[in-house]
Amino acid sequence: MAEKKLGWALVGLGKFATQQLIPAFPNCKKSKLVALVSGSPEKAQQIAAENDIHPENIYDYQNFDRIKDNPAVDVIYIVLPNSMHAEYTIRAAQAGKHVMSEKPMATSVADCQKMIDACQKANKKLMIAYRAQYEPFNLKSMELIKSGQIGKLRFLTSDHGRMLDPEQPEDKWRANKELAGGGSLMDIGVYSLNAMRYLTGEEPVEISAMIHSDPNDARFKEVEETVAFTLRFPSGVLANCSSSYGYEGVKRFQAFGSKGSLILDPATDYYEHNLELKLEDGKHEVKVQEENHFAAEMDHLSECILENKTLKTPGEEGLRDVKYMMAIYEAAKQGKPVKV
Ligand code: NAD
Repeated sequence: MAEKKLGWALVGLGKFATQQLIPAFPNCKKSKLVALVSGSPEKAQQIAAENDIHPENIYDYQNFDRIKDNPAVDVIYIVLPNSMHAEYTIRAAQAGKHVMSEKPMATSVADCQKMIDACQKANKKLMIAYRAQYEPFNLKSMELIKSGQIGKLRFLTSDHGRMLDPEQPEDKWRANKELAGGGSLMDIGVYSLNAMRYLTGEEPVEISAMIHSDPNDARFKEVEETVAFTLRFPSGVLANCSSSYGYEGVKRFQAFGSKGSLILDPATDYYEHNLELKLEDGKHEVKVQEENHFAAEMDHLSECILENKTLKTPGEEGLRDVKYMMAIYEAAKQGKPVKV
């Protein structure tokens, strides 16, 4: 018997939604794309035609709230610029729908809390799209560290870098503080931060940070270029991370333990990750079956709704990262470590 699929609406038909999420839906077992929300009717009509979506299920940002009257839509996935996640999550909850919000959850702790409160009030689930936590190589890395393969975990590093190109439509808003909330940290540093938390299974207690932005580079008039930050965890594990809009193509982490180390490079790409263990007897490539983790992530929310299960990455998970990112900015500003 075919499994029940919940109906999903995508809000924002930009690069990530069109190139990664829409193509992932056919791999979903519990989720089906049934509605689109876009400011561009032509784009929405074309995507609807290509994906067998009824034209009546196309909304724009003004009539979006009418989605409450559409019983085909169970879940609304917000894939808009960062500072817009809060408004659309709240409107989606008020329309009586479950919500998936892209990372970073929002651009302030207060907005994160409003999103959580709105979904709680509507009795709807709120998940943050931390896709790496549904990706098989990342899951294997967590399992290997937890099972003691590299001995006692002592130290981690993680780096995420991509060149910001405001000539590209998807990078225009990323250079705008109001829409992005910050620079490389909010956009990709959040992967480093989140990975340090899921690899240790701990919450940081102290954070130090430094920020540098090339003063002669117009891209960094509003948002920061490079952030280096260090996290101290209660067990004594330390983690050194960086994020940058000034170096290209880096998305990796390493974990160092008393018996060896683990490297995932790339760690948070869309496909083709490489996992390696370095132990006393040498290097070992760890083979893991690739999977469409966008589909796995979306199906997780559908499954939690259908079976009333607890989410692995709820709003509270997104709020914690936003709180730590604010502490990173604060530590850099003060020039000294801050307790969190
Ligand atoms: P994008 O610019 O390609 O898409 C954003 C969409 O929002 C566009 O369709 C744009 O038209 C629409 N939009 C509506 N109002 C807007 C406004 N006022 N200003 C600018 N755009 C507006 O960006 P993207 O790369 O697709 O990122 C969208 C979201 O997805 C961001 O929150 C980003 O962090 C997240 N993202 C996540 C991943 C991931 O791997 N999980 C990857 C890329 C992006």
